[in-house]
Amino acid sequence: MPSIPVRPTEPPESLVQTACPLDCPDACSLEVGVEGGRVVSVGGGRANPVTEGYICAKVRRFPERLYGPDRLRRPGIRAGAKGAGEFHDVSWDEAFDAVARRLLEARDDFGGESILPYSYGGSNGYLSQDTTDERLFRRLGASRLARTICAAPTRRAAEGLYGKMPGVSYEDYAEARLIVVWGANPSVTGIHLVPKIYEAQKRGARLVVVDPRSTPLARRADLHLAVRPGADLPVALSLIHWLFETGRADEGFLARHATGVGGLRAAARLWTLDQAAAAAGVSAADLERLALWYAEMSPAVIRCGWGLERNRNGGSAAAAIMALPAVAGKFGVRGGGYTMSNSPAWKFDSAAAEGAPETGTRIVNMNRLGEALAPETAPPVKVLFVYNSNALATAPLQEKVREGLLRDDLFTVVFDQVMTDTARHADVVLPATAFLEHREMSRGYGAYVLHDARPVARPEGEARPNVDVFAELCRRTGVARSGDLESAEEIGAAILAQSPRAEEIRRCLDSTGAAFPDSGARPVQFVDVFPRTPDGKIRLFPEALDRESPAGLYAFRELPDDARHPLALISPASDRMISSTLGELDRDPAALEIHPEDAGRRGLGSGDPVRVFNGLGEVLTFARVTAEVRPGVVRLPKGLWARHTRNGRGANALCPDTLTDLGGGACFNDARVEVERSASPE
Ligand code: SF4
Repeated sequence: MPSIPVRPTEPPESLVQTACPLDCPDACSLEVGVEGGRVVSVGGGRANPVTEGYICAKVRRFPERLYGPDRLRRPGIRAGAKGAGEFHDVSWDEAFDAVARRLLEARDDFGGESILPYSYGGSNGYLSQDTTDERLFRRLGASRLARTICAAPTRRAAEGLYGKMPGVSYEDYAEARLIVVWGANPSVTGIHLVPKIYEAQKRGARLVVVDPRSTPLARRADLHLAVRPGADLPVALSLIHWLFETGRADEGFLARHATGVGGLRAAARLWTLDQAAAAAGVSAADLERLALWYAEMSPAVIRCGWGLERNRNGGSAAAAIMALPAVAGKFGVRGGGYTMSNSPAWKFDSAAAEGAPETGTRIVNMNRLGEALAPETAPPVKVLFVYNSNALATAPLQEKVREGLLRDDLFTVVFDQVMTDTARHADVVLPATAFLEHREMSRGYGAYVLHDARPVARPEGEARPNVDVFAELCRRTGVARSGDLESAEEIGAAILAQSPRAEEIRRCLDSTGAAFPDSGARPVQFVDVFPRTPDGKIRLFPEALDRESPAGLYAFRELPDDARHPLALISPASDRMISSTLGELDRDPAALEIHPEDAGRRGLGSGDPVRVFNGLGEVLTFARVTAEVRPGVVRLPKGLWARHTRNGRGANALCPDTLTDLGGGACFNDARVEVERSASPE
């Protein structure tokens, strides 16, 4: 078994500057210790000023992923039963032939749509997805994947209201007098925002956290609104209503810069503070305090996170929250406005790298993978190609996904860095290089930075980069064409060339390792950046969103009471994994967090074995009794692997595959469960 490097006591042979492309807003610059072509340490760099020389504990452990026992080092073909995780090694040549043959057979016998590519942001860079991969699948006429498991509703809302206007930078939080962190836990995701918030607090700023959990920031907040999951929408609408009714709305700003004011106002009129407080399970007095502070304190900034979107009302909730700074007139000053995803600051389009036009084939929503893999689906999926994703640990309706993966007539390819739970169900596994072993170009979606990171270490075993593997599959399936861009260098150059500032950006990347967008690294909303809507105005009631929402935009849809499963299950990000990435390093069992009142009613104490269940499945784990979740809410971490629970199931075994009102997002937080003591584990 290969040895895992320990942190060196002597300085490494060389310290190399590079960057982290993982699915995290901060896009840290890194300083990586390399010895003999192997990574021995990973620390923070300074090219991205937000990083300030430190990084999260997760990525500090990255060498354990690179060289650990779960690393995939060579291609393998299934040797045992499906799901057993047994493979025999083959050469890349044999693996390519096997995969290409099955892709062509599926296309010829059942049509191209019987091929389903499945990927997400395992690596968030420009080169590891939407390049040669997209070219292969488009030219084969494969089904298209709607990548909606995260950020789809918030993206639709941000696009609809503001045309994805870039938001307030991390640095400018220090300038705010009021900070509202809504549905986000930066102590776990986006850690470099936290010191900026502390700095603002030292300067006298007030902090409000809206979250069903008592997060570390909530414990330092002046006000914590522990709203029920799914009830962010009435809370935001009641604040809007209050601003209009008390004459605190900035009517002048709205007249100059917004349309749809009447529609928003009419929707908000349905929600008084008292009504919203009842729906959200918080006190009306606390809501009024927030309303008053928000009206009176400037600069005021809202960090709109992704927790609030993971329910049936998620898109409307995000839209209402992002409407607040417009209604209250909070734009136009440093530290005022909102932050959603800042990735739209970069206007690169992957079309330059794909080299194949978008097709009209069927679209499969990734949240409905289980349904797509059901044998009765027409046309049936015959080849599933998973990359940059651990679908079994992340997609809703885990049992149905598992059933699909176990189908005898499904050929599954998993191209990954480590032996994930999904990879264990593959017919062919292909070893992928990790970042640090291949070139990656990536941008932050919190920090305003672009990196072009060269490989710093030798690929482990026979691992290969995504760009190369999909380019080879294009050749083996006969869909490659002369003139195709095939190397990371060519594709990176084509992506950069889309910017009128391409040469300047290249110079910055080469000289400092980082580049910043046209708007700079600290744009002020309504000074440096403006809505990117056709008329340049904020659309507070976009017709397209109203049409898309099943009950209309801003309509609150209650989840029917389920007396048999009265607890709301949330499954937020943890400090151990990035979604499910790095789960192989976390050997500790996951605990179900439950409030003392709920635990007491069920006779449970910390450490007790529990069964968490509903009509979709069950998770066997242990209880952790804590007031960090509100009564009526229980929590399991997101992205759990089979090794983390006693029956190998994660929170997604309990999550429905229903979709959000906007964007077709996942409704993880609409899971309702019951908890009971289970038999003691042996
Ligand atoms: S995961 Fe986030 S905080 Fe950690 S190193 Fe990467 S960008 Fe930085």
